[in-house]
Amino acid sequence: MSQAPPDRPLAAPPAPALGSPFDWIDAEARRRAAAGLVRTLRPRPAVPELLDLASNDYLGLTHHPDITAAAAGAARRWGAGATGSRLVTGTTELHAELERELAAFCGFEAALVFSSGYAANLAALTALSARGSLIVSDAGNHASIVDGCRLSRAETAVVPHADPDAVAKTLGAHPGRQALAVSDSVFSVDGDAAPLTGLAAACRAHGAALVVDDAHGLGVLGEGGRGALHAAGLAGDPDVVATLTLSKSLGSQGGAVLGPARVIEHLVNAARTFIFDTGLAPAAAGAALAGLRLLRGEPGLAGRARAVAATLHARLTAAGLTAVRPDAAVVSVRAPSPEQAVKWAADCRAEGLAVGCFRPPSVPDGISRLRLTARADLTESQVDQAVATILRTSPVAVS
Ligand code: PMP
Repeated sequence: MSQAPPDRPLAAPPAPALGSPFDWIDAEARRRAAAGLVRTLRPRPAVPELLDLASNDYLGLTHHPDITAAAAGAARRWGAGATGSRLVTGTTELHAELERELAAFCGFEAALVFSSGYAANLAALTALSARGSLIVSDAGNHASIVDGCRLSRAETAVVPHADPDAVAKTLGAHPGRQALAVSDSVFSVDGDAAPLTGLAAACRAHGAALVVDDAHGLGVLGEGGRGALHAAGLAGDPDVVATLTLSKSLGSQGGAVLGPARVIEHLVNAARTFIFDTGLAPAAAGAALAGLRLLRGEPGLAGRARAVAATLHARLTAAGLTAVRPDAAVVSVRAPSPEQAVKWAADCRAEGLAVGCFRPPSVPDGISRLRLTARADLTESQVDQAVATILRTSPVAVS
């Protein structure tokens, strides 16, 4: 998801002369329907009926018995809920253990766990900037980064996608300003990686901090899945901060910010999504810790996810489909229109394959896509099945 405009009126709707104050919602719904952009909820069955290339469970760990047992054990020991915000009653030994092990695994000095990756991004961006400071944000950044920029009240300059020169130029145009640049490490729409080395150089040349959302890099990139910043040799640097989600490779829920100890201490005191939010549920903390330990014990998992992505990409593009070469585990296949993307995904589903479907406003360039998750645990025959189904149902001519 990215910084495309929100799917709601940009200006306040006209005041109703008569009738319900929500009548404007019907007009919005009609507009969405006409544009093929209606979204609906579909409950997931407990026992999967479809081959899943739609979830973010990159390493296939969500149902791992160690993880579900850790979640259940944590709930039994610490209770179903965190009982309060982290600063009051919501911190358990599990949270502290998870923070220590996450920081050590990814190569950072310290970590702070949040109730979601969304909250972690809001925390990092709002606590590390202020009115009068500057945030330079990639045009393809995730919606939670966009919202963090908005909430921060800092001046936000949106720069072209994956362009360190544009970041350097923008920072250079604001000498003396407190500044940070923020980027996804792997962009959720096309699965391409950010030029982290170039971004770090641009920031360093201008005394700015670098904040990187490694939601799609943890568990997939870097040695043993230590993430994109570890892979780039930037983990633990004094001017670098990472944000994470625990909901993808680690098979749990929640988020984290990793960085220098003084940054983490500052977040404890200043980040509103830490201070005013109930802490991460113990079950989620326990599950994330078990996921992290599994990842540490199986350093081949990350490479397996990347290899599955490379195979999916090679076979789909060889048949004539258009997809950016994946840098991690997201493979994004272009569709001719939102309507055709929805039908394509529905046809895949009817044939037993679950795929994601990205449409405006979740795509920065207005191009709809099928979004495939290359899970590390997919077998060769499942990859064959996925490729055959996508090609058979393709609205684009394929060979
Ligand atoms: N950042 C990115 C790049 C994401 O893809 C997501 C989740 N889709 C988030 C942040 C938010 O993480 P969470 O779902 O844990 O709130």
